[in-house]
Amino acid sequence: MSKIIIVGGGLAGGLAAIYLARRGHSVHVVEKRSDPQENISSYVDRSSSRGIGVSMTARGIKAVLGAGIPKEELDLCGEPISGMSFFVGGKFKVRKLVPVENLLPLSLDRSAFQKLLNKHGIINGVKYHFGHKCIDVNLEQKYITTQDKNDDFHYISGDLIIATDGARSKVRQAMQNAIRCFEFHQSFFRHGYKTLVIPDAAKLNFRKELLYFFGMDSKGLFGGRAAIIPDGSISFCICLPYKGAISLNMQKKEEVLQFFTRYLPEMPADTRNEMVKQFLEKPSNDLINARSSTFHYKKNALLLGDSAHATAPFLGQGMNMALEDAQIFSQLLEKNHDDFEKTLPEFTQLRKIEADAMQDMARANYQVLSSSSPILPMRIKYTNFMHKKFPTVYPPDMAEKLYFTSMPYSHLQNLQSQQNVWYKLGRMN
Ligand SMILES: Cc1cc2nc3c(=O)[nH]c(=O)nc-3n(C[C@H](O)[C@H](O)[C@H](O)COP(=O)(O)OP(=O)(O)OC[C@H]3O[C@@H](n4cnc5c(N)ncnc54)[C@H](O)[C@@H]3O)c2cc1C
Repeated sequence: MSKIIIVGGGLAGGLAAIYLARRGHSVHVVEKRSDPQENISSYVDRSSSRGIGVSMTARGIKAVLGAGIPKEELDLCGEPISGMSFFVGGKFKVRKLVPVENLLPLSLDRSAFQKLLNKHGIINGVKYHFGHKCIDVNLEQKYITTQDKNDDFHYISGDLIIATDGARSKVRQAMQNAIRCFEFHQSFFRHGYKTLVIPDAAKLNFRKELLYFFGMDSKGLFGGRAAIIPDGSISFCICLPYKGAISLNMQKKEEVLQFFTRYLPEMPADTRNEMVKQFLEKPSNDLINARSSTFHYKKNALLLGDSAHATAPFLGQGMNMALEDAQIFSQLLEKNHDDFEKTLPEFTQLRKIEADAMQDMARANYQVLSSSSPILPMRIKYTNFMHKKFPTVYPPDMAEKLYFTSMPYSHLQNLQSQQNVWYKLGRMN
């Protein structure tokens, strides 16, 4: 049995802790926020407008079930999704999605899911250190320094340090200093985002089994996604450029009102006013892609989830991949009899290819969504048309495979590149 320190008790950390505890390790999770079972407010984070609803696809669901969490309990954290609704030209166009592996995606309440993970962590004997911020990492000696809410310092040492402390990972920073030629690349987008939450989705007549997308006809200016979670609220994630007349920088009530009237469907006046109010009050957030050349340091430390490969949500896969990371790591440990020296490099080798593929596809999707060229949407229509007509020879739409299967991202990327070739051939003909 080894002592494993997990830095960051979010979604990846929460699931990794369960997997590792089930393997018989002594697992310590260090989380800067407070215990979600006692105080969920720091996890909901409505004022700083971080994403509240997230879509969990087949890949994420399988990873959660693989850790012994019953499906009925997971289902209570989300609404099953059976289609997508696109608001284009003043109308909603619904596209039904047919599950391939028999698992419907979930529109998940992030904080309910976090609580579920921690509940099962406790059942499996995980020890949590809430309110502890990791401020320093000694990779060679395998210990971390934390600062608690009273500004007291603590040292926690172990046999392995796992980083699940998100896009701005402290452990990754230590790896950047310790590893020779460690390559790290962080990129941002022309767009950032705000999340607006309407407590009563029923008022809008939105269907809870659909994911809603807006701004498809904005020529790449605006992208919006809305999803209902089980508490009956709906969260709108609104992506806009940082600068310009229509942007995150809009400060006048009339400007924002005009924007919502133009791009969001008819909604009750009080809801629209609430959205305008929240838009003006809430700070905006950045969308980040972060790439690291390796995910491990010797046999001492490993990056999982966003700390390894933070990805802007243009495919909605960041959490799903983070959860799958935890499952794959556990499977590799099983294969290698918990030999960290063997497992850590294997994890990097296996997951780096997948993370790069996922990030490339997310970026490519962003280029389509943010392009003002009419050719790209036409390409999508063409692709759908061709697949319908020639289902056996023309590759299917990525969304179906992404949402309903856990096919490796690198395989999907391959399919996508074939699709592009087919598209070009089709056009020449
Ligand atoms: C707007 C938006 C929408 C998204 N939608 C989707 C979606 O639909 N589907 C999807 O799959 N993904 C989505 N994502 C991506 C998803 O949110 C992330 O990929 C996922 O949260 C990564 O989980 P994580 O546990 O690796 O990191 P995080 O969720 O960032 O968790 C990191 C944890 O570490 C803690 N921490 C950080 N620093 C320290 C420290 N120094 N000491 C102690 N603790 C620390 C934090 O408090 C937090 O609990 C979305 C992202 C955004 C921004």
